[in-house]
Amino acid sequence: MSDILPGEAEIWENFEDIVRDWLKGYGYRPIRMPIVEPEPLFYRAIGEVTDIVEKEMYAFEDALNGERLALRPEGTAGCVRAAIQHNLVASGGPQRLYYQGPMFRHERPQKGRYRQFHQVGVEALGFTGPDIDAELIIMGARLWGQLGLTGIKLELNSLGSAEERANHRVALVAYLESKWDKLDADAKRRLHSNPLRILDSKNPDMREIAEAAPKLADYLGGDSRAHFDAVQVLLIEAGITFQINHRLVRGLDYYNRTVFEWVSDQLGAQGTVCAGGRYDGLVEQLGGKPMPAAGFAMGVERLLALWQESGELEYVVEQPTPDVYVVHQGDGAQRLAFRAAEALRDIGFNVLLHCGGGSFKSQMKKADTSGALLALVIGEDEAAADEIGIKPLRSGGGQHRVSFQALPEAVAGAIYGTEMLQDNEPQGGNGQGAENGSV
Ligand code: ATP
Ligand code: MG
Repeated sequence: MSDILPGEAEIWENFEDIVRDWLKGYGYRPIRMPIVEPEPLFYRAIGEVTDIVEKEMYAFEDALNGERLALRPEGTAGCVRAAIQHNLVASGGPQRLYYQGPMFRHERPQKGRYRQFHQVGVEALGFTGPDIDAELIIMGARLWGQLGLTGIKLELNSLGSAEERANHRVALVAYLESKWDKLDADAKRRLHSNPLRILDSKNPDMREIAEAAPKLADYLGGDSRAHFDAVQVLLIEAGITFQINHRLVRGLDYYNRTVFEWVSDQLGAQGTVCAGGRYDGLVEQLGGKPMPAAGFAMGVERLLALWQESGELEYVVEQPTPDVYVVHQGDGAQRLAFRAAEALRDIGFNVLLHCGGGSFKSQMKKADTSGALLALVIGEDEAAADEIGIKPLRSGGGQHRVSFQALPEAVAGAIYGTEMLQDNEPQGGNGQGAENGSV
């Protein structure tokens, strides 16, 4: 579990801004669920025989009432619980929802795999057709484009219906039994409880066995096949290339029909940056009225790693530069300094008010190293006259005094130039003060 420090946290915020705009473009609305849920929600939703529920959940007993709780390992279960509990779909029709935030899984930490990590999750509740499946995928492609990420490949599969999976399962178990000696311990344990999971084993030795296993695709009925075909046609029309991966079954039990993963080859073993699919049975399984649904979750850490390596990250994060630094000495001066700083923030400037006292000289040094364009200088003289000294820090001009009333216009004029002020209302600082200096 990592701290995200200043410098990096700005990159996160920048990413989140882009993501919010992108989601708005597809009509998604935000939802925020608790980080802690009753533990049974997750084994009912995700499945008992899955990596997450068997070995990755941070579950504990509430010391006050003995209830079993868990830190959420993913967001779909909580999102669906919330939608059922608050009757979202019944009252508002189909819902396009998204959330973002920390998820928790007790995994072996390595590059791209953490115990607290972050997901952006997107859930479309109440949609039956292949159109929403395709849209969920197309929107992913748009985001990679907006971030300037290349080399993220789409893998696609269909898990069919529960009944089709049951038929496939018979063949799969027979096949795996014939390979018993070569199965690892996990696979042996899951052979009868959840054989499908063996197909997405992380163990490379299992891969060859999985590769040659009976394919779900051969067990799809007409409806599932038509649905899958329709998704593919929409993707092809949108110019999205993909690869059918018969081993793609996803690590959670709730999926059916379309499943997909976006995979980068630049992240080593932890290459999946986004994964999802259809989960038509989940709402009913969690106690709601039967309702089709589909969604995906993307791993923020992995996407940020790609974004930073891609060189597309234009936003260079340095110590933020204030527009104005306020230097002051004496009680009356301090009162005026507070008023002056607030007056400038009223019109959008970023202001660092010197705190902690010290001589004018040492304060001016701080003003200078802050990168601010202007210093306001307020001593007892100025305070007595309700006036403020303005000293340009970058252009070498001299200090002059203005009345408190005239301060906003004088500062805006000094920063933007008087002519620009007549054309435009002051826009305020944007944290890029040094650049404003060249305007
Ligand atoms: P994996 O096969 O890598 O364990 P998963 O199937 O468990 O992935 P999902 O539950 O589908 O992953 O989560 C969606 C996305 O969240 C993943 O594709 C990945 O980008 C990210 N993710 C999952 N677990 C972690 C983790 N422990 N640390 C960082 N990111 C993660
Ligand atoms: Mg996992």
